[in-house]
Amino acid sequence: MPAQHTAAAGREQHRRCSRCQAEKSSRDFYRNPASICKQCHNTATGVRNKARRAAIALLVSVHRDEYRRLLTAERARRLPQPETAAGGGPDVA
Ligand SMILES: [Zn+2]
Repeated sequence: MPAQHTAAAGREQHRRCSRCQAEKSSRDFYRNPASICKQCHNTATGVRNKARRAAIALLVSVHRDEYRRLLTAERARRLPQPETAAGGGPDVA
């Protein structure tokens, strides 16, 4: 790690984004990832999310029946189970 932490109090530090090569204020960078600017990071995140959504939609369309079955099973698992044959209702004395 060649990065040296010299506290420049009150002075704005500029860094170069490793992706868009633009020199920006350190405020335009997130702490992590530190090498690319916020704009590049947000773009990358947006692309990643869109790609993931598209891939899932594609996967669902290819395996539609399996997806439906799994969806139904998951929904049933999350819903409170109706109590069948539960002894001791309000009518029981
Ligand atoms: Zn950038």
